[in-house]
Amino acid sequence: MLYMSTRGRAEPKDFAGVLLAGLGSDGGLYMPESWPRFSAAELRALRGLPYAELAARVIAPFVGDCIAFADLQAMCRRAYAGFAHPAIVPLVQLDSAIFALELFHGPTLAFKDLALQLAGHLFDHVLAQRDERVCIVGATSGDTGSAAIEAMAGRDRVDITILHPEGRTSEVQRRQMTTVTAPNVLNVAVKGNFDDCQDLVKAMFADAPFRREMNLSAVNSINFARIAAQIPYYVAAALALGAPDREVAVSVPTGNFGNVLAAWAARQMGVPVQKFIVASNRNDILCRFLNANDMSVRGVEPSLSPSMDIQVSSNFERLLFELLDRDAAATEATMADFRATGRMAVPDGKWQEIRREFSGFRLSDEGTLAEIARTWRDAAYLADPHTAVAVAAAREQGPVGLPVIVAATAHPAKFPDAIEQAVGFRPALPPHLSDLYERKEQYERAPNELAAIETLVRNFANRNR
Ligand SMILES: *Cc1c(COP(=O)(O)O)cnc(C)c1O
Repeated sequence: MLYMSTRGRAEPKDFAGVLLAGLGSDGGLYMPESWPRFSAAELRALRGLPYAELAARVIAPFVGDCIAFADLQAMCRRAYAGFAHPAIVPLVQLDSAIFALELFHGPTLAFKDLALQLAGHLFDHVLAQRDERVCIVGATSGDTGSAAIEAMAGRDRVDITILHPEGRTSEVQRRQMTTVTAPNVLNVAVKGNFDDCQDLVKAMFADAPFRREMNLSAVNSINFARIAAQIPYYVAAALALGAPDREVAVSVPTGNFGNVLAAWAARQMGVPVQKFIVASNRNDILCRFLNANDMSVRGVEPSLSPSMDIQVSSNFERLLFELLDRDAAATEATMADFRATGRMAVPDGKWQEIRREFSGFRLSDEGTLAEIARTWRDAAYLADPHTAVAVAAAREQGPVGLPVIVAATAHPAKFPDAIEQAVGFRPALPPHLSDLYERKEQYERAPNELAAIETLVRNFANRNR
């Protein structure tokens, strides 16, 4: 299997190349040259398999011959062995039509663990094949750093440095990162804000000698390996609800469009998903696009569902590429125009095509709290704020007569303040995190200066080489 860039000017790569490169050298996103397809009989044969086994079989066609199937199976087993639920991704029925697909039983209580835990093993494997070592650097506002750290902690061939803005993450978020004390993990609290941290990461990548010396890498949500690892849970849930012999719909709380794109990829592979409901908070660029062909950038406003507080959904470029019949030149021109004007021009006919399958939904913070309370009252189910937005979206826009799979992307205990506001009590952390406040923290502090950060990263990485 080869991958090509949505902008058409980066060299095609195989799965291992895409895993290590992330973004194409032309700024585009890698896409498989064609979508693997399972027949109805092949899908039925996946029913009832243990999750890790199903995941290996769904991901295998994307990996191609980069990794032997037995190795991929072993990596899937190891990646999901630490999850706190034996089903890995249990499906919980909330009412006659709505099912919560719980994607938060991994080490950091959010759906990113599903992809990143596997990515950690994939990195080790591919780097061992090449006899290389990489240093991953990233910045976090608090939310996503811990998933990357948990995924890479203890890996043989990866060092990881995550910058966070000192004093600007919640204590739970900071502790989820800083209590991971594996020798290949470096946490740095930067005197500055999240944008400063992101600028420092960009500057490290732009410093070509430093980038080469450290063999810098990243694990962004645009990495196709992460998309591939998010497809199996939609396959598993749809099969449990009667696919391929019955259609389903999905409702996904959406930020960067990676999770909903994986559901769409499952459909390309043969899973009968009839409708994709894109759920957002007040940062509603995708909702405005889907309802009125208005993809125009506005400022980001904070909300109760911070992982959906985005201005531009980077993975949307992949759907755009497909919509434009895989015309890379047209995709590149559309993206360049979008960058220049802040507004994406999608031809009306193409927009109508998207609208047949996708719908947009937006919910305010007040609506989110009301939905958390309602779901608790009616179904005795505690939904985190992200999940609650998607549950409300499913109620409003779920097609009559079809089961709706709601991606439950975070554990309610990750957002205790919002839950308390909605239902009057704070949810307990699950057992594997209950001693988080007693664990020892370890992190460096640094000024907002590139040279100081590079010295820290170099000294840290050289200790492990
Ligand atoms: C990252 C995240 C999302 C958004 O997922 P995308 O793939 O970026 O659309 C939604 N909910 C939670 C809890 C997340 O961590």
